[in-house]
Amino acid sequence: MKSNKYDVVIIGAGPSGSMCARNLARNGYNVLLCEKRPVVGVPVRCGEATGPVKRLSDFMTVNENYIETRFTGVILNGPSGISIRYDANKELGVMLDRTIFDQDLANQAVREGAELQVDARVMAISTSSMAGRRVTIEQAGKSFEVEAAMVVGSDGAESLSGRWVGLKTRQLPPLTCSAIELRVKAEDPNPNHLTFWQGHDTINKGYIWVFPKVKSKVVNLGSGELVPKMGAKNMYDLSMEYKNKLYPDAEVEEVHGGCVPVSGNLEDYTADRFLLSGDAAHHTNPLTGGGIMASIVAAETAAKWIDKGFKAGDLSKNFLMQYQEECWNRFGKNHRKEARIRDFVLGLGNRDQETFYRIFKNMVGGNFSLPSRTIGFTKLGLLAAMNPKLTKKSFFS
Ligand SMILES: Cc1cc2nc3c(=O)[nH]c(=O)nc-3n(C[C@H](O)[C@H](O)[C@H](O)COP(=O)(O)OP(=O)(O)OC[C@H]3O[C@@H](n4cnc5c(N)ncnc54)[C@H](O)[C@@H]3O)c2cc1C
Repeated sequence: MKSNKYDVVIIGAGPSGSMCARNLARNGYNVLLCEKRPVVGVPVRCGEATGPVKRLSDFMTVNENYIETRFTGVILNGPSGISIRYDANKELGVMLDRTIFDQDLANQAVREGAELQVDARVMAISTSSMAGRRVTIEQAGKSFEVEAAMVVGSDGAESLSGRWVGLKTRQLPPLTCSAIELRVKAEDPNPNHLTFWQGHDTINKGYIWVFPKVKSKVVNLGSGELVPKMGAKNMYDLSMEYKNKLYPDAEVEEVHGGCVPVSGNLEDYTADRFLLSGDAAHHTNPLTGGGIMASIVAAETAAKWIDKGFKAGDLSKNFLMQYQEECWNRFGKNHRKEARIRDFVLGLGNRDQETFYRIFKNMVGGNFSLPSRTIGFTKLGLLAAMNPKLTKKSFFS
């Protein structure tokens, strides 16, 4: 470490940590960004799909080097062979090269003046005092202590930092989902589409995905499930079954596993001189499991409120709660709705699930002359999405 005193120590150089570090350093704060891995962005534990370049440009100058694919459609394979193809004829999102993307963001933070330390694992955070918090960091077998006026936990889905400061951040399945991903040396016949399989005859409480990385001529193929049924295939065997079916002769270059927080938002993720952002705060979209974009939005919001807190001389939990409120308004509310829709669809029995997919196919095909059973379903789905009492337990229990 270059110093033993910082304005802000940020734990984790994923998209959330690097974006927060960049914005704070840009505003003149003395920022230490600690990353436990030796190389930022390696290994990649992500399907790498995110929103369109237009949306990314709200936060950064987009670098073509990490844009792999601009996808324009989605193929959703439901139960009983119901396949729904949606062609938007415009960019719906992009596939990233997360290694280059994460490194680009960390480099932006460094260029703005943040100090990046790799192989630097944060081990503990002290209680808050007038002087700030003490952060214990291990690097190259040595232990260091630094002081920080503010600490940000952007340490991902397996975050411990919240617990160190007394927050209740531990969540078990079905509020956290496990996923396996294979990097397959293959080119998909639908290179500009994301393809999904969901439903009782494939993977009932999750989905299987194929996301093509066109530039690199590989596909990310994976599966993630909330709670696997007893006796059902594990995520690795299921992903391999699809790999063998879709690309029998292709080589599997890499296999990664990880967990994805799908609660929709933690209830409370700030403390005195401390906040969580990104996966660590369960900011991931609970319907899709996508968290890159929300982690960036949260980081931008965090940097804004930390700056305001410094200027007001107030980094108390009470003050930082305003960050939580803004996250709720920017994406939390939507995540809550999407979690309800997910719970509704996953809660359907086999026959009802098929009906739901048929309705959906009709809607995507522009056919709105729906049978009466369909109208009942739509109403139920909307009710589930709007009524907090129906699914509250599944979010915060
Ligand atoms: C299999 C899989 C597929 C996914 N697919 C997609 C997808 O297609 N699209 C999408 O949008 N999202 C996807 N996600 C989710 C996405 O990867 C995350 O939402 C995103 O990476 C969150 O960014 P983050 O900065 O919050 O956390 P991370 O990217 O996880 O970064 C956290 C960083 O903190 C570091 N760290 C942890 N603990 C410490 C410590 N004690 N000290 C120092 N450093 C530490 C870690 O090494 C890591 O670099 C997927 C996740 C998985 C597991």
